[in-house]
Amino acid sequence: MLKGKKALITGSTSGIGLGIARALAAQGCAIMLNGSRDAEAVEPVRRELADQAGVLVAYGRADLTRAEEIGPLVAQTIARLGGLDILVNNAGIQYTAPVEDFPPEKWDTIIALNLSSAFHTIHHALPFMKAAGWGRIINVSSVHGLVASVRKAAYVTAKHGLVGLTKVVALETAGQGITCNAICPGWTRTELIEPQIVALAERLGVDVEEGGRALLAGKQPSGQFVAIEHLGQLAVFLCSEAAEQITGTALPIDGGWTAQ
Ligand code: NAD
Repeated sequence: MLKGKKALITGSTSGIGLGIARALAAQGCAIMLNGSRDAEAVEPVRRELADQAGVLVAYGRADLTRAEEIGPLVAQTIARLGGLDILVNNAGIQYTAPVEDFPPEKWDTIIALNLSSAFHTIHHALPFMKAAGWGRIINVSSVHGLVASVRKAAYVTAKHGLVGLTKVVALETAGQGITCNAICPGWTRTELIEPQIVALAERLGVDVEEGGRALLAGKQPSGQFVAIEHLGQLAVFLCSEAAEQITGTALPIDGGWTAQ
């Protein structure tokens, strides 16, 4: 379905980003993976995806907390893949503490990575999408782009900001063949939330699996984690023709979390 399209997915060497990369590659899309690790460390992941999907898969190392590394990443994507049709802003980190204990440097890093990096990638990518008359921008926000939780000031602020950015970009590109949407996952079992599961399990004096169930019980009515593969399929749908009038939305995929 996406044969000939070219996608840059930020923070895509693990977790949800890698899942979205797999789903787009399975549709024939060429992929630029990104992360802040050296290329050698990521080579097994890159090669496996390329072999599995039979598409061009490249890796662009860039630390997205550093704005000056983002323009070159977009330029490298266009040079290596021959264009840029799909941009998935997925890179993100978490840190939890009450506001009064929240280290200011953690605040700055989370805002830079989880919010500002999406502005910079879009800023650099949009001229190419506008010239081509086609583009899909998917911002991986979170349920925390729609509602808050305690101890997550920087994360919740960044994810709400990402929803705002999504709406502005959607309005500025409306009717030009380009859409911009945010997806808002609930708990999805990745490295990002593992420390929270472990901490909860320790606090409750239970094993990690029981900790996972307790984490879900607090927020996610389905009692089940969101599957990474399903987030990949949602991204594929947003790139499809059927989704051409879906723009400026923030789509929850959260087992009912934000219905409460
Ligand atoms: P993850 O830790 O597996 O993925 C985060 C990715 O970001 C990693 O591949 C990491 O290499 C990359 N990254 C970290 N710092 C970077 C930097 N400075 N420059 C470039 N890349 C960097 O966790 P995940 O859960 O897959 O998170 C992906 C996105 O999904 C995040 O934006 C996260 O906020 C969002 N999200 C996750 C959940 C969840 O429950 N796991 C829920 C909602 C939203």
